[in-house]
Amino acid sequence: MSYLLFTEILHFLGALALFLLFLRFYKWYIAGFSFLFGFLIDVDHLFDYFYFMKFFNRGFNLRDFLSAQSVTTGKIFIPFHGWEWVVLLLLLALLFRALLNSGTLKKDFWKILAQILFVAGTSLFTHILTDYFTNEVGFGAYSFFWRWSNGFYTSLICGK
Ligand SMILES: [Zn+2]
Repeated sequence: MSYLLFTEILHFLGALALFLLFLRFYKWYIAGFSFLFGFLIDVDHLFDYFYFMKFFNRGFNLRDFLSAQSVTTGKIFIPFHGWEWVVLLLLLALLFRALLNSGTLKKDFWKILAQILFVAGTSLFTHILTDYFTNEVGFGAYSFFWRWSNGFYTSLICGK
């Protein structure tokens, strides 16, 4: 089984487990954000793949995409993979929850938003944690700003 297929199955099962867990507390359309942030977040690999297409002046090729050929550009962007986004989502969830509890915010909109942010943050955390433990990279490799500060160079991110 390829690494990609293996991790995508893990991500799907993780998102499904979180969905079933969150269903106990939230409405289905809120719990469903676990699939968006726990599974479909890997759509950001397309960003790297489009960079690869432009870099080598190539057309779209599904086999290239699935075999992670985009790393041959020497750069890794994957903009949605970042511990920072997890912290940001969870801090915003906490902020809105606190404002709701204090009575500053009253409308259901804010309650739903706080729940979505919490589901999104925990789902993204689970996704990045899975990626982190299934790749031989340092903690910084999954920090967007760390990758940015290292010019997104694969050699610096992966130590290869
Ligand atoms: Zn991922």
